[in-house]
Amino acid sequence: MTQKEHKQHLLDQLYEPYKKCLLCPLATPTRKSVVFGEGNADAQCMIIGEAPGKDEDEQGVPFIGKSGRFLTKILTELGINRKDIFITNSVKCRPPNNRKPTDLESKTCKDILLINQIKIIQPKAICTLGSAATESLLEMPIKMGKIHGTMLHFGEIPLFPTYHPAYIMRNPKKRDQFLRDLQKFFSLFRF
Ligand code: URA
Repeated sequence: MTQKEHKQHLLDQLYEPYKKCLLCPLATPTRKSVVFGEGNADAQCMIIGEAPGKDEDEQGVPFIGKSGRFLTKILTELGINRKDIFITNSVKCRPPNNRKPTDLESKTCKDILLINQIKIIQPKAICTLGSAATESLLEMPIKMGKIHGTMLHFGEIPLFPTYHPAYIMRNPKKRDQFLRDLQKFFSLFRF
């Protein structure tokens, strides 16, 4: 078994008991999926967003709706194939009306899934998109305008926060900045 296959097996084992997770208020009766994440189990880098939206909940795949298509387009512009990285969210279930996840939801999901995904994948660096994912990992309030594009740490792992793609779609003047932040992040890797 290759290292990638081994890590994929561990990820599958991690996901299995939580496919119908009931541990937080995001386990609503209308939930369709616990959106675990997708990509290379042995990826050098992870991208972590906020939470699944409607399309993600329906299809069980992260970042495939409007902001996901925008993110995928930007990644392609930067020469990055989604298959080579691992993409997930700070919480795996869609918050009602796409509200921000609460601290309890965020902490519950982090403790059972996100932390263990990071432990299995062992990425060389993490990029968080938006304040929800960044605050979940750093466990403190942040101002994205101040810290985007800087290198922080999650334990030993370098963590690069940047804006959420949905914010960039609403504020296109920030697009170049977003691109530069991601470029800086990906310049750490050779694909
Ligand atoms: N927004 C996110 O933060 N994650 C998704 O998967 C989709 C939209």
